[in-house]
Amino acid sequence: MKNVVLLGSTGSIGTSTVKVVEDLPDRLRLVGLAAGSNVDLLARQARRFHPAAVSIQDAGQLAALRELAGPGPELYSGEEGLVRLATLPEADIVLIAIVGTAGLKPALAAIRAGKDIAIASKEILVMAGEMVMGEAHRHGVRVLAVDSEHSAIFQCLDGKPAASVRHLWLTASGGPFRQTPQSEFASITVERALKHPSWVMGRKITIDSATLFNKGLEMIEARWLFGIGMDRVQVVVHPQSVVHSLVEFVDGSMLAQLSSPDMCLPIQYALTYPERVASSRVQTNLARLGTLNFEEPDTGRFPALRLARLAGEQGGTLPAVLNAANEVAVAAFCQRKIGFEGISQAVASALDRHAWISQPTFEEILAADAWARRETLRA
Ligand code: NDP
Repeated sequence: MKNVVLLGSTGSIGTSTVKVVEDLPDRLRLVGLAAGSNVDLLARQARRFHPAAVSIQDAGQLAALRELAGPGPELYSGEEGLVRLATLPEADIVLIAIVGTAGLKPALAAIRAGKDIAIASKEILVMAGEMVMGEAHRHGVRVLAVDSEHSAIFQCLDGKPAASVRHLWLTASGGPFRQTPQSEFASITVERALKHPSWVMGRKITIDSATLFNKGLEMIEARWLFGIGMDRVQVVVHPQSVVHSLVEFVDGSMLAQLSSPDMCLPIQYALTYPERVASSRVQTNLARLGTLNFEEPDTGRFPALRLARLAGEQGGTLPAVLNAANEVAVAAFCQRKIGFEGISQAVASALDRHAWISQPTFEEILAADAWARRETLRA
């Protein structure tokens, strides 16, 4: 039995994780649940799973949570609550699925308390990948990937050293505008950008999939998770989202991981690793799928890939700026303050204006993040 703390339990990844726990009641137990503001769903989850502790972002919602969740769990709030949950003595693994950067401090706290972590929140590794992986190494804990692409690479690598890899190939669906000519980009609406062709996900990551910033963030995530230089991390467009990613080894052999798209699969693999546990949830019929296509990504129409490669190659505080600037720009796009192309323009401008630090401390990373949040839309 593994005791799981789930940060972001009410979101898209969070609710898929709950399904996985329901599928495997003899193997997984939820001992901690944290959410942002959806007090009703969080309380329902608490009543269903009886965790030791529950946390909500705003302390003002604690009274409502107490009333709805019943007398069982300890209740916490805010950043301190996330850290409390991440370090619960009974926890074996902490799955972090909070959108944005709020997961970084609890991730480091969990590692320092000797817990394995499963990361959905790619922002954590984009901002502070070197630090997080270094701490995990020092404390002898695992950092497991929840992102389907990184789970695929992890499964294909199967413990092979970085020296045996020629390239990591991240697949990208290409998003809803894969075939849209650039001349139409100025008229792209929020509603159109939120219609992803193959995955149902949270709002922020869906917009990131339309701009391809999601793939850019994943390139940097892969670089740290697998200890590989950015020059060996590549992207190929694969509209069916069936091949979740590939590893090209030095002898020219390529291994891929395939399945019909369902986040429950990588979540289950991360939570039950190193075992493979039977589940009938995901079924893949290759004959029915028929054809799988692959294309070169278009970095002209989607500058996100170029910007992310630049930030990943340069490192230091630049990836934190890329991440925060993109978050601010996506929010502005969703509020109809800037257009679709304005997202990558705003990020490019923030990267240009940032006073780069090559070997930042934790505080300097947070300061770069704060700078980008303040300055991105000021240009
Ligand atoms: P959602 O927006 O669906 O969910 C976000 C979750 O985080 C919600 O439970 C939300 O709570 C919670 N939350 C937000 N802020 C806080 C906070 N300060 N403290 C505690 N909880 C908070 O996002 P997704 O599930 O789509 O994505 C989560 C992460 O996983 C992202 O980093 C994304 O990039 C990554 N990811 C997502 C994939 C997907 O398929 N969705 C695939 C791969 C990675 P509430 O709803 O109560 O406000």
